[in-house]
Amino acid sequence: MSADPHCIFCKIVARTIPSRVVYEDEEILAFHDIHPSAPVHFLIVPKRHIASMAHLGPDDEALLGRMMALAPRLALEQGCRPYPDGGFRIVLNTGEDGGQEVHHLHLHVMGGPRPWLKG
Ligand code: 5GP
Ligand code: ZN
Repeated sequence: MSADPHCIFCKIVARTIPSRVVYEDEEILAFHDIHPSAPVHFLIVPKRHIASMAHLGPDDEALLGRMMALAPRLALEQGCRPYPDGGFRIVLNTGEDGGQEVHHLHLHVMGGPRPWLKG
């Protein structure tokens, strides 16, 4: 499993940096965002270091699909109300213009009663 020694999310995956984990399997870790923008705000990341969505290859399609497919279940478990009155937002920032600050691929999953800090 490839890790970048300077990457903060690789350190979270390795448990060198603590986080509030909400889900884990062989390929994926989900944990609460340290600065939540909504009442529910967690991140879903691949355990393997992939710098951004611009770095995805054909072999990563299933992984990204699994990350996306996990979101509805974890959102409900973390307190989002069910669709259609509830729901959640997925954000995947990519590159500087895309607003990406941590260069290890991650989905933001945000939900809960509004107003939210962002959006
Ligand atoms: P980006 O702007 O790259 O899409 O989002 C990075 C997110 O990672 C931000 O929402 C930020 O709050 C979160 N974050 C940055 N450092 C840490 C950390 O050490 N722990 C956790 N749990 N979240 C972090
Ligand atoms: Zn990383």
